[in-house]
This record gives sequence, C-alpha cells and structure tokens, in this order.
Amino acid sequence: MNSGRSMKAIAVNPGKPDSVHLAEVVKPSVDDIPRGYGVLVKTLWVGVDGTDKEIIAGEYGAAPKGEKILIIGHENFGRVEAVGPNVMQFHPGDYVVAMVRRAGTSPFDRIGMPDMSTDDTYLERGINLLHGYLAEYYVDHADYIVKVPQNHKEIGVLLEPLTVVEKGIAQAFEIQRRLKVWEPRWAAVMGAGTIGRLATLVLRLRGLEVTTFALERKPYLNADLVEALGAQYVSTKELPILESAKQKGLYDLIIEATGFSPIVFERMQALAKNGLLVLTSVTGGNRKVEIPADRINLEFVLGNKVMVGTVSAGRCDYELG
Ligand code: BGC
Ligand code: ZN
Repeated sequence: MNSGRSMKAIAVNPGKPDSVHLAEVVKPSVDDIPRGYGVLVKTLWVGVDGTDKEIIAGEYGAAPKGEKILIIGHENFGRVEAVGPNVMQFHPGDYVVAMVRRAGTSPFDRIGMPDMSTDDTYLERGINLLHGYLAEYYVDHADYIVKVPQNHKEIGVLLEPLTVVEKGIAQAFEIQRRLKVWEPRWAAVMGAGTIGRLATLVLRLRGLEVTTFALERKPYLNADLVEALGAQYVSTKELPILESAKQKGLYDLIIEATGFSPIVFERMQALAKNGLLVLTSVTGGNRKVEIPADRINLEFVLGNKVMVGTVSAGRCDYELG
C-alpha cells in the first residue's frame, strides 16, 4: 500500500547512456514494508560517485525487475519521518543512513554478510535491481538502517563511502593476521577522490605513514585536504608510484581507488614483501593492457603478497564508520 501521493526522483534507463532524468514516482509509505518494520525517511543529502557516473554512462546498473527506470543514488543521509509499529530503535527526527546491499540467498547472505555474497547477482539500492535514494523519500526495513548522531548532520552523507573504506582496511588487517607480527608502516593510497581521501584518513588514524597519489599537480584542493590529514600528496605526473617506491621503499599496504584498472598492475609492483593491495574501484568498462606477467607473478610468489577486492560493506562497517 502507499499514500497515493507522488514525489520527485532522479532516475536513469539502465544501459542507455546519458538517460538521467527527473521522474515523478509514487511516494513510499511505512506500510510498504511488511509486519510493521518500515522506516520512512526524508532524504536530506545524496552523494554521487564513480559508480553513479558508470550507471549514467550506461555501463553498469539494472532497474528493478519489470521496471524500465532505476532511481539512482546510494550515498544517502536523511531524517526519519515515520516508523511502523514494530520499530523500536528509530523515532521521527532521527538522522539515519541506509545500507546499500540487500540479502540474497548464499550462505554469506544468510548470516548477515550480503556484502560477501557469492550469488550470481546482487541487490543494491540505487545500483542493481533496487531503487536508490535520490528521491524526496524512501522507505526500508529497520534492519537496513543505521542511526547517525544528531551532531553529525553535516558529515553523515560521507558514512556510506566511509564504510567501503572501513571494510577494505578491516579486511586487510584481518587477512594479515596470517603474519602474526604484521606492523605496516608505509601505506599508499591511489586516488584522491572521496574514497582515496577517506582511506587516507582511516590509515592515518591507524598510525600509518601515508602517501596519496593522484594525477593532478598541486595546487589542488584534494591535495590540500590530504595534507591536512598528515599524509603526503604526490602527483603521478611528477613522481609515478614505482619511482616513489624506489626512493621511499616498497609499500606494506596499498589501497587502489582511482577507478582506472590498467594501473592496478603497476601498483602490484610497488608492494613490499608480505604486502597487501586492496582494490576498491568498480570498473564497468572493457579496457585491456599488456603487463610484465612473469615478473609480477614471481614477485608475488617470492614475496607472499596478497591482492584482495572489496565491495560494499556490512553492518559492522557502518557501525565502525
Ligand atoms: C557502492 C557500494 C557498491 C559498489 C558496487 C559502490 O559505489 O558504494 O556499496 O557495492 O559500488 O556496486
Ligand atoms: Zn559508492
């Protein structure tokens, strides 16, 4: 059931480049969620990122089954308007962020880890098969909503991208427990966009020395923001990562967040022995590249190196964020 009223939303026709448009859709209601667990939220902020760019370019994303449009937007922040009778943890006026992934059917989905799903397809609001948050309102099950402290109103919209970083870095440390005494000192972050800067922040908070690389030369606002976090900013036009690694030493931990896959193989060569490379970019394109395969393989084998992909985030990463 719904209130019968309509609202505005920003949508695309998935697969069709530059189809982004303003749509008039049905306003949701708490009763759309069964058994009284609905939370109706008024959207206050929505961030856009590389994934949205790929969706708008028609390279990624899908509409809900049987529908033509997909309401986009997954980096969300809003205020609770109304809750169903069985929702105890949220009240009207609370600031909240909704999670992106929804449970599928794999064993990981069933234990509350849909971000680790092995299903062929996955459900993500604003991205794949489910409408997103770039609308005046949204409704969801209380289980997928996270409360944000009232005084975090100005920054709450950064929680979703932060969770991607929290998960990636938590995974890195979890994997490196294999080493018993891993004490990473040098970290490199590739990319100074939202994910790159948030990764810089989290790594600095964990006490690592961080160099953040991006294309642009200084003066550059994102470089100032990186340096304000106590990290070093390097333009790859001036000093490519392999050159920098020659000067400073190879990196214990590298976070890749440029959205440009061909350079992943260069990153692999900047990794120290026992080091770990985390890949976060969602690249819907079809790029190909030639690489020094034997050398990369040999160094990975002889150096016990790890490369790991990370996508979305679980509830614990939201809490951590
Ligand atoms: C979102 C993730 C999502 C991923 C892949 C990212 O932009 O932040 O939640 O899992 O795209 O669709
Ligand atoms: Zn995103």
